[in-house]
Amino acid sequence: MINKNAQIVTEDLKNIWHPCTQMKDYETLPLIPINRAKGVYLYDFEDKSYIDAISSWWVNIFGHVNEHISSKIKEQLDTLEHVLLAGFTHKPAVNLAEKIVNLTPKGLDKVFFADNGSSAVEVALKMSFHYHKNRGENRPLFLSLTNSYHGETIGALSVGDVELYKETYAPLLIACIQTPVPKDQTEVSAKVAIIELEKILEERGREISAFIVEPLVQGAGSMHMYHPLYLTLAKKICEKYGVHLIADEIMTGFGRTGTMFACEQADITPDFMTISKGLTGGYLPLALTLTTLDVYNAFYCDYGEYKAFLHSHSYTGNPLACTAALATLELFEASDVLGENQKKSAYILEKLEKFNSLTNVKEVRQTGMIAAIELKGYTVKERIGLKVYEYGLEQGVLLRPLGHIVYFMPPYIIDYDEIDKMIDTAYEAIVRL
Ligand code: PMP
Repeated sequence: MINKNAQIVTEDLKNIWHPCTQMKDYETLPLIPINRAKGVYLYDFEDKSYIDAISSWWVNIFGHVNEHISSKIKEQLDTLEHVLLAGFTHKPAVNLAEKIVNLTPKGLDKVFFADNGSSAVEVALKMSFHYHKNRGENRPLFLSLTNSYHGETIGALSVGDVELYKETYAPLLIACIQTPVPKDQTEVSAKVAIIELEKILEERGREISAFIVEPLVQGAGSMHMYHPLYLTLAKKICEKYGVHLIADEIMTGFGRTGTMFACEQADITPDFMTISKGLTGGYLPLALTLTTLDVYNAFYCDYGEYKAFLHSHSYTGNPLACTAALATLELFEASDVLGENQKKSAYILEKLEKFNSLTNVKEVRQTGMIAAIELKGYTVKERIGLKVYEYGLEQGVLLRPLGHIVYFMPPYIIDYDEIDKMIDTAYEAIVRL
């Protein structure tokens, strides 16, 4: 009998170049073709199930094939599938913008649509630079945290600091410098890092358009976590030097860190907020860059002075994607998602306790519905992340470690038995290394 998975893999490799992948790896580590999905489960063509412990790159916050989101998209599909957003508008975009403005920190009143996280970051960077220019200032430099990640397009890559993605393209990048991220989740480390930030802004603040951060958790930068106090203080210092603060909530937004947005824990309103990923519940690509009236007004004038923000993407504000986002927000309104997450996070933390006694575990950390186990004592060449990944797949759990960081970012609908399976599988994988 032919293995259905193998057949699709062969067809796939004829034409597809996969993202974030050394394609030669597929000679030894077969692709997994997914046929269908439901809840936290993905099913391959042989009907083997996998718990999606990483919400498919952190997007499917309510799991897969959610009845409510699916039915709303189906309704929208027969009404309006797409229209350009320049010169035209539509209900799903208008309703979404209103809801998002009400949901995000007070003062973020204007919404610019993009269609993926990196694009939303590009929008924020360009808008910030252009804002200063419109006010007669040239600020060609950006500031970001060490170990940060903001996407893969040239601007977004420039403000990131993960060598693996950035090194090759160094000659192409825009100007950005880094200030140290707090080294752990303590208040003391937050204060130490703030001293460095203040020094940089004192020296070069007038050249810098914006300081971009992933609030509380640096995702692709090994799930590194820090205290909200850093953001509270950073916002004040940025204001002092006229530097915008961009909160990249692409990964942290929509309840992932315990509050709807991570910035709430620091009680700040950034000048820009970028959101995507969980926004559509993992259904369709959509991203938003939110900003203040102060920024918006700096662009508002008669035509022809190069002051307008002439940035666009073809699928900007796509009605189906906006509908998916509205349906996702309705799920937050329908039940106490954050309250339930709190209970699940506490349970996860309890379960993680046993990892602390393993000799190859350096640290266990958690913020809301993100938990990470940092391993120690291995070289990059050993590719231990890959070994954990392979063991997870064998056992029916999709774990996708970032190098030596094994992490969990499950859909919020995961139940307690599934949490057990997810964590126990990771434990077994780490013990076997
Ligand atoms: N910013 C952050 C914090 C992210 O985690 C990501 C994606 N992992 C991005 C930006 C880029 O988003 P996208 O992959 O949709 O371009």
